[in-house]
Amino acid sequence: PAGFTAELVRQDFPVLHRNVNGHPLVWLDNAATTQKPRQVIEALAAYYGSANSNIHRGAHTMAREATEAYEAGRAAVADFLGAPNPDGVVFVRGTTEAVNLVAQSWGRANLGPGDDILVPVLEHHSDIVPWQMIAKETRARVVPVPLTPGGDIDQDAYADLLSSRTQLVAISHASNVLGTVPPVKEMTALAHRYGAKVLVDGAQAVAHFPVDVQDLNADFYAFSGHKLFAPTGIGVLYTKPELVAGMTPWQGGGNMIESVGFGKTTFAAAPHKMEAGTGHISGVIGLLAAVNWLTSLDRKAVAAYEEGLMSYALQTLATVPGLELIGSAADRIAVLTFTLAGQDPAGVADWLDRDGIAIRAGHHCAQPALAHYGLESAARASLALYNTSDEVDRLVASLRRLQQSA
Ligand code: PMP
Repeated sequence: PAGFTAELVRQDFPVLHRNVNGHPLVWLDNAATTQKPRQVIEALAAYYGSANSNIHRGAHTMAREATEAYEAGRAAVADFLGAPNPDGVVFVRGTTEAVNLVAQSWGRANLGPGDDILVPVLEHHSDIVPWQMIAKETRARVVPVPLTPGGDIDQDAYADLLSSRTQLVAISHASNVLGTVPPVKEMTALAHRYGAKVLVDGAQAVAHFPVDVQDLNADFYAFSGHKLFAPTGIGVLYTKPELVAGMTPWQGGGNMIESVGFGKTTFAAAPHKMEAGTGHISGVIGLLAAVNWLTSLDRKAVAAYEEGLMSYALQTLATVPGLELIGSAADRIAVLTFTLAGQDPAGVADWLDRDGIAIRAGHHCAQPALAHYGLESAARASLALYNTSDEVDRLVASLRRLQQSA
């Protein structure tokens, strides 16, 4: 891999060179979505410009080419996640759809009255609401796992809540609001002792550190392409191959069958039985380009760089009068959620936007996590590999000006 520097990587991102409100853009909304390198943009243009076709209908050359590219995307994602083979890789719309697929397919078949689904208070709504919906139908229970004051999952409480009733544990590999990176491998091993399955939501993890689903021993692993420098509308659900083989499709239609008759219909093998209808072919091609782009970098150097930038941001943000950081987990990704004394978070975002700095304000789809801190809303700056200490300085300077003007 080539040596990594943020300056070099920035050259790959056309959007990072635009101005917003008369200032060079500072994109600090990476937890919401990441920007796209030209390698991804060019792959999409090349596909639509010279290779567009539906797939799996081997009628002609371009159908074959599109099928090959789509399946190359699946193989690349399997490699990227350390999956044993591509059969467990199902393309979905994003993390949200992945969790809903597991709830509707695996959950409907395996949950019943008196069963528990353990969900840390830290979770994104997409890892809470689908469980509540299927729990209601199957009369199972969604049981929250509490947090420590710093925003870690309370491991003693987790161990106490696990029981033979636990069917599933759903954990984020990194929190989108506190940045917390829980000890997922250890939590998974403990859940497995009770026979429970574990779904890991990797939406915030995959762009920041390498993932190995076999090392984690995760039963399910979900992520969204758009938080990994790829297009929106494409995501991945990895399922252990032996598990997906026994799962019933959650949607029916074309592309997922072996044969259809009014007397009897049989399904294709995994992963195809889980992908009804025409898939997001260009999305997969964009995702393939993003994975190739990211894995061409020295990922250890990327992680070390992000860690250094995060420490710098923590240090310098602490100098802003009235700024309070939310969460202090020891192990976390570069997400900085904060409140500013006397300021409404939406007003903070608006002020920064006037300086060309994009952050997010609100509940970040994690209302229970914010409620743990007595908050309904907070401001969040989230960093990616292309952010620099100069950009952090601009954020801090703008926040200081806001406090001086108050
Ligand atoms: N889980 C986490 C931890 C997230 O940060 C997000 C996106 N904010 C999601 C799930 C949902 O992802 P998507 O909206 O792409 O489905």
